Amino acid sequence: MHEFHIVVCMKVVPKAEEIRVDPESLLLDRENARSEINPPDMNAIEHALRIKDQCRARVSILSMGPPLFESILRVGLAMGADDFYLLSDRAFAGADTLATTYTLARGIDKIGDVDLVICGEESADGATGQVPAGIAEWLGWPQVTLATEFQLSDDYTVCTARREIPGGYEVHRVKLPAVFSVKTASNEPRFMDFDRKPWAMEEAGVIVWSRSDIEVEDDLIGLKGSPTIVSGLEQAETRARQQHMLEGDPESIAAQLAEILAPFHTRN
Ligand SMILES: Cc1cc2nc3c(=O)[nH]c(=O)nc-3n(C[C@H](O)[C@H](O)[C@H](O)COP(=O)(O)OP(=O)(O)OC[C@H]3O[C@@H](n4cnc5c(N)ncnc54)[C@H](O)[C@@H]3O)c2cc1C
Repeated sequence: MHEFHIVVCMKVVPKAEEIRVDPESLLLDRENARSEINPPDMNAIEHALRIKDQCRARVSILSMGPPLFESILRVGLAMGADDFYLLSDRAFAGADTLATTYTLARGIDKIGDVDLVICGEESADGATGQVPAGIAEWLGWPQVTLATEFQLSDDYTVCTARREIPGGYEVHRVKLPAVFSVKTASNEPRFMDFDRKPWAMEEAGVIVWSRSDIEVEDDLIGLKGSPTIVSGLEQAETRARQQHMLEGDPESIAAQLAEILAPFHTRN
């Protein structure tokens, strides 16, 4: 019987508080920031592992990036993923979201027999949120964004997902295979399983595919396949925080506070 197969797309990003943009090149200065797993991708893998907890499923991590990603993303194996595929080649470098999604989609083709692709909501560095939709488009599969809950049909051919919208939620029933992005903080990612850790960190083989291992057109990958141009960079204005020192007894301070906050009060 076909084993249900979930691919989780995960990325490594510079730590948010250490990200700087080089004003000359207009590129992110990644050299001077420490790296971590893109935090929303921890929610993505947790959703996949919860499905695995309930049924016989295989969970694979898929990433496109430099060799540095390997050691960092092994944490996903220690959490419970079974395989890790890394698409890594200088030919993939400089990719915008179009080229990134094309390359990831061709990686998914090569993995084969994939039922469900789960991505994070957005990355902490690029933060376009375009990658899940782009992968779905290249594969020709349906997609649902910002899912918070998943339920598979008994025969594993349909996935019902809940999706938050302002003031409520929607329920989508989607024929598989399909691509989902998950709402950030929609679950509590588990810790590494310490029994799996020695295998995950040292023994597990990571499958690294280069340009020649997947079927891609050279015009659609890397810088060549990236029509996006960063044409300028502007500093966003930040508002200075207001500070009021209130004096008096507690009752008078409470009254002053209520008066200051009154203009911000809105009735639902
Ligand atoms: C002109 C241009 C040049 C660029 N050059 C480079 C470069 O040289 N090096 C570089 O690292 N980046 C580069 N980027 C950034 C690169 O395009 C993005 O990192 C990438 O396309 C992902 O987009 P995003 O960060 O907006 O992801 P989002 O769409 O915000 O991410 C959503 C989800 O998609 C998945 N995902 C995103 N990216 C990956 C990935 N690589 N592997 C697996 N899953 C993923 C994750 O689950 C993530 O949570 C460039 C961007 C532009 C516009």
